[in-house]
Amino acid sequence: MIGMLRVFILGLAWVAGALLAMTAPARAAPIEPVECRIVTGAAASLDEAMALSPRSCGGSVARRVRGTVWLDYRDLPELAGQAEPWRMMIDNHRVGSVDLYMIRADGSRSHVAYDPTARDRDWTPGNYLSLPIAMTDQAPVTRMMVRLGDSEFVTRVRATRIAPESVAAAQDLKGGALFGMAVGVLGVTILFHLLLFFAIKRRFQLLYCAHVTMLFLYGFSYSSLILIPFPELTATGLSRLLSGSMAIATVTALAFISDFIEGDALPNWLRNWAKLAAATSLVTGALLFAAPLAWTGPIYSLGYFAAFHALGVISAMLISGVIRGSRTARVLGLAWSLPVLTALLYPLRGTGLISDTMIPDGAMVFALTFECLVLSLPVANRIKALRIDHERARERQSVLERQAQTDVLTGLSNRRGFVAAIDHSFTAPGPNQAALMMIDIDHFKQINDRYGHGRGDSILQRVADHVARSAGPGAIVARYGGEEFVVAIRGYDAKRAATLAERIRIGIENLPCDLQPPSPLTVSIGVACGTTDAIDQLLAEADEALYAAKGNGRNCIILANGGGSRSAPARAASAA
Ligand code: GH3
Ligand code: MG
Ligand code: MG
Repeated sequence: MIGMLRVFILGLAWVAGALLAMTAPARAAPIEPVECRIVTGAAASLDEAMALSPRSCGGSVARRVRGTVWLDYRDLPELAGQAEPWRMMIDNHRVGSVDLYMIRADGSRSHVAYDPTARDRDWTPGNYLSLPIAMTDQAPVTRMMVRLGDSEFVTRVRATRIAPESVAAAQDLKGGALFGMAVGVLGVTILFHLLLFFAIKRRFQLLYCAHVTMLFLYGFSYSSLILIPFPELTATGLSRLLSGSMAIATVTALAFISDFIEGDALPNWLRNWAKLAAATSLVTGALLFAAPLAWTGPIYSLGYFAAFHALGVISAMLISGVIRGSRTARVLGLAWSLPVLTALLYPLRGTGLISDTMIPDGAMVFALTFECLVLSLPVANRIKALRIDHERARERQSVLERQAQTDVLTGLSNRRGFVAAIDHSFTAPGPNQAALMMIDIDHFKQINDRYGHGRGDSILQRVADHVARSAGPGAIVARYGGEEFVVAIRGYDAKRAATLAERIRIGIENLPCDLQPPSPLTVSIGVACGTTDAIDQLLAEADEALYAAKGNGRNCIILANGGGSRSAPARAASAA
């Protein structure tokens, strides 16, 4: 929780710093918000528009305006007799054409046409159109009229700003850098979490990435930085990206929360409600991206409904999670607090309850970056927990595998372990010659019968130790059956294998076992030689040779394929 708090505070500090940087120069520098008034589309000409009585753009514009929209600017700063050109920054719209008319004190007029579909049009970071105003030494400009042609759904207009070119350029640079940082954070987060996704494939990671991708798309569009790689995007295209990405971001947010919060922290009806909200937002998002422009008005209404419905469901899920004691829900609530509060500001601004300047440009972009940063922490924590679980499960698995391949009594591999070791070792690069011996204790049943099973067990352990030690670390030694052992060695020919087998046999004969005569501990050994790729054949041949060794009086070794007896059967005879 301490780490979480630190990220929260850092994120908050970062957002506060960014917002201060965004707003400070606007307050101090001569970029002036100019009061604008909307004149409805009835006016066909500039003169008609100028004659109509305007309404303020900000505040109580409840009625939507479509078609031709005139913006009327008065109380302008002194715009005459200046050598430097100025710029007018107008809120971006779904608009077909923009015309700026300057009306001077002496009644003369000049006109600037701005094409919001042109690839090389001027723009300013923060979703503004940027109109150049060339200065002349004519009479001062007393009034400006802007005509938005083929406009779709203008409810209100952000404060327009005008400033000398150099001031505007400095502001652009600052805005570009700050938005670039925010968008960069979102982009890097997506890449980072996608890489993590490829390591541990979980659905919540994909949902988180999809969500941050939508935030990125929103930030990239809002900042207008998207016009650098995609200059062909029109003002309308940008507007579609902004509203569409926000709608889809609520879909991914709903899906992410529903998936990420622990199963028992959300009631089913709430999850189902979230699905409904997500479906509504998905349809809305698709329409905002792609529906005909003429539908914009109703789709925006649907969009507002879907957005606030989704925010309601998100809040309900988080509150439910918190009430049911989910830590995840608390952190998610922290992450969403800022974007949700920011989202509430926009309708308030729409109703005129708060002024335009109370919402700094890019407030939502920075709130979303904050959200992405705070969210990345529980996501990373969950991944860490999953990895630890995963590693523990793997360890358990390998312990179980080892147990399944090991003989409990002797600690040697069992038959399963022998097969696995052969598979592993005989397929690796190395000599293709191999020897295999089957070792069977003679008359072990009698030993059991005479000395008891416990004693039999300890003899089995001693024989196992002896065989393993004699064969050496390069050999694969296993308990193949009850009192039967197998040794496989790579690179041994018949001669070396027989020598080793003989050493084992003699060694066992001399094991101090305290067995009373006439039954010393002896083994019979069958030896086969061949190639590493014919292990089954070697096993069969060695088994046959062992059988022959038993038939030969025991306590001897027999080489397969007519290798003959290699040991003096004197003791074997006595054992029989
Ligand atoms: P041969 O010389 O023909 O091999 O005679 P044998 O008595 O050794 O062979 P047989 O197959 O008749 O008997 C094997 C005995 O090994 C029978 C069984 O009780 C004993 N045995 C098998 N596994 C264990 C074990 O884990 N512990 C003990 N104490 N005895 C075992
Ligand atoms: Mg035996
Ligand atoms: Mg046996």
